[in-house]
Amino acid sequence: MKTEFSLTQLADPDIAEADKILRACVHCGFCTATCPTYVLLGDELDSPRGRIYLIKEMLEKDRPPTAEVVKHIDRCLSCLACMTTCPSGVNYMHLVDQARVRIERDYSRPLAERALRALLALVLPRPGLFRAGMIMARLGRPFAALLPTPKTTSGTPTLRRRIKAMLALAPDRLPAPGPAAGSVFPAIGTQRGRVALLQGCAQQVLAPRINQAAINVLTRHGIEVVLVRDEQCCGALTHHLGRDGDALARARANVSVWQREAEQGGLDAILVTTSGCGTVIKDYGFMLREDREFAGPAAQISALAKDITEYLAGIELAPSSQQGDVTIAYHSACSLQHGQKITHVPKELLSKNGFVVKDVPESHLCCGSAGTYNILQPDIASRLRDRKIANIATVKPDMIAAGNIGCMVQIAGGTSVPVVHTIELLDWATGGPRPGLSGSGLN
Ligand code: SF4
Ligand code: SF4
Repeated sequence: MKTEFSLTQLADPDIAEADKILRACVHCGFCTATCPTYVLLGDELDSPRGRIYLIKEMLEKDRPPTAEVVKHIDRCLSCLACMTTCPSGVNYMHLVDQARVRIERDYSRPLAERALRALLALVLPRPGLFRAGMIMARLGRPFAALLPTPKTTSGTPTLRRRIKAMLALAPDRLPAPGPAAGSVFPAIGTQRGRVALLQGCAQQVLAPRINQAAINVLTRHGIEVVLVRDEQCCGALTHHLGRDGDALARARANVSVWQREAEQGGLDAILVTTSGCGTVIKDYGFMLREDREFAGPAAQISALAKDITEYLAGIELAPSSQQGDVTIAYHSACSLQHGQKITHVPKELLSKNGFVVKDVPESHLCCGSAGTYNILQPDIASRLRDRKIANIATVKPDMIAAGNIGCMVQIAGGTSVPVVHTIELLDWATGGPRPGLSGSGLN
């Protein structure tokens, strides 16, 4: 694609990067076929190629984005299916990230929308606030049911619709908090390695059992696990809201504490059980590339970051449970399959450890969770969830496995089949408790 940035514009490293990405696009349109919003809405401007044109216009003309541009960029899930499909290697992720930052900086959203986005950016990355928010949401849910669901005419959901969606995501009960930051879990038997385990923010409130399962499997196989003190939210949530100041501050803080831990105790890897976070941590090196102090350390941290399944693939697990023929529908989280290109490893681990693993039809399509997307774009998110659940139902699973808490909550909201994390199944297969026993959904 031909671009027309001025030399002054190209002196800005972000614009130079955007120029490189835009020039790689040959506007073939292959990406449209796998884009969930194009598949649902059929509008070229809700396809990757359409959005690329909108972003190009916005950056080249260097003018504030219009409401129309914002609408189509906001509808993008950042699922990155387009990057998997693109034959030209267009890095759509870095382009749309830049567009979101521009929108956040130059576009004035309606007051109520600004307030909601500010609330999400404040609450979601802080487990204490998030826990309090979940309790309040649960109390507020009966009142939300009384609110009428307004029809949207502009294509942008109303605040009331978004609040209803947010309250609907609150679980009926919250589990007790997991282990505290600073905890160290020694290897059982001969120590073979030492890793940090990302504590996460929403996940540690909604399902601390996931990291507990990871700790069980790792220590059982000779790996010491540390929950690094002073670690923060990885920044993914605010990064996807276009709030890069917040996201970069969190990235720098995490790079510092993980670097300190690596120097003091040694780290073979920084393990992540939430693939949405893993994709962003693996991108810290890029996000901080212009930071003289942090560019090098951030690249080292990104190289150390691994999804839990990626790390376990290098270890011979010792199955000990006879769980029988349990059929698992494996839901491939977008951040894992498109963001990190991890597709076969989780399924192979499950099969090798005794599970019957079924692929879900249309597995490339997002479930609609996508960070805060299911709150900010609830109608599209619900349609994607229903489509995902219908596809999952065709393989008649006993359980659904995924590697990302966002997907787990989203899918559990529409099915009675237990939704578990891949690591919980591997824990079960190697001597841990059976997951998904407490009934339906995520609980
Ligand atoms: S598939 Fe790649 S090259 Fe083709 S239009 Fe989409 S982004 Fe551009
Ligand atoms: S990231 Fe997903 S929703 Fe956004 S343009 Fe690409 S395929 Fe479509």
